[in-house]
Amino acid sequence: MLANGRTTLAIPGPSVMPDAVLQAMHRAAPNIYTGELHEVTHSLIPDLKMVAGTAHNVAIYIGNGHAAWEAALANTCAPGDKVLVLATGRFAFGWSEMAKALGLDVQIEDFGNVAPIDLNRAEEVLRADTDHTIKAVLTVQTDTSTSIKSDIAGVRKAMDAAGHPGLLMADCIACLGCDPFEMDDWGVDVMIAASQKGLMTPPGVCFVWFNDRAAAVRDGMERVSMYWDWTRRANPQEYYQYFAGTAPTHHIYGLRVALDMIKTEGLAQVWARHEALATGLWEALDVWGQEGRIRPNVADRTSRSWAVTSIEMQDDDAKRLQDWCRDQAGVTLGIGLGRTPAEAYFRIGHMGHVNAHMMLGTIGTIDAGLKALGIAHGRGAVEAAAEVYARAR
Ligand SMILES: *Cc1c(COP(=O)(O)O)cnc(C)c1O
Repeated sequence: MLANGRTTLAIPGPSVMPDAVLQAMHRAAPNIYTGELHEVTHSLIPDLKMVAGTAHNVAIYIGNGHAAWEAALANTCAPGDKVLVLATGRFAFGWSEMAKALGLDVQIEDFGNVAPIDLNRAEEVLRADTDHTIKAVLTVQTDTSTSIKSDIAGVRKAMDAAGHPGLLMADCIACLGCDPFEMDDWGVDVMIAASQKGLMTPPGVCFVWFNDRAAAVRDGMERVSMYWDWTRRANPQEYYQYFAGTAPTHHIYGLRVALDMIKTEGLAQVWARHEALATGLWEALDVWGQEGRIRPNVADRTSRSWAVTSIEMQDDDAKRLQDWCRDQAGVTLGIGLGRTPAEAYFRIGHMGHVNAHMMLGTIGTIDAGLKALGIAHGRGAVEAAAEVYARAR
């Protein structure tokens, strides 16, 4: 009844697209053979490396996050090769299913749905691989289904402590540009992301960053699909080789503006904004949880993502709340993806083009929904979030 007006999409991707990004894409098709498009494309490369914290290589693909999953594996692993997946939610299992479909031998270590990768256990598993058959360790920095954030630098330390030579791969699709990530400093060999979350650009392009160790593994492969091969994409002799065909013309213009926005704000400040926005939400959650059953999926704040928060309720309360917020107030919340029962969970995406007034709108709407639906909750959640935003710089 009160939903007419500008709606808010508070799901964890696709995220809210800045008007400036949409306006940059609203244009006639450019010439793909010469001119401005080439210059704009070249200009993306150093900025993509900057957001990843790497001086090494980046390849761009027309595709979603699943395409990046496949690209990372296609360049490094042949059928029969073994990979270790350290799972903290649905997305790690998704990547492992893709690995199995590619004929890889997949070992999954499941760390459950509420806590990050246990680094001691990861080290033990790696130590047990005495003849080093594990070729790559696959991690997800923020698993979007659980909102668990794992310590990726810690995984590298565990690999080093175990004397394990495998490649370290990180899926940062949910959280690149939201949660801090330093590819080179952390010793990550391959990192993947996609356009539609922290990078604020519609779904349709994805990225694989790789260092020289990973490049050497690629060069040792007997064969690599010509389409997925990152070699030419990262070092094109001809413009079309960036994309193995026609460029994603409009995404290139949109992404240019999105990266400019990140540079103007400053990557460290972008991370700080995400931290403050998430903290306000968590304070609100603590207040709601004082009476009634509504609580963050991850107890320890240091293991929660700054890009997305998964919330547990009971029975079908989360589903009822999502329906109310969307139909009555114009706020779309994320579903309880991959959880059982799904109706007891919801997620709030707070990634990318998000500010304090959007968060207060979402938090205030949830507060109204809890009241409307008669779901027990503590009073004063909006106030608690406002206190955090009042103090933030
Ligand atoms: C969104 C997401 C994916 C999948 O991306 P698609 O674009 O839907 O293929 C994979 N991993 C993580 C961590 C994600 O957040």
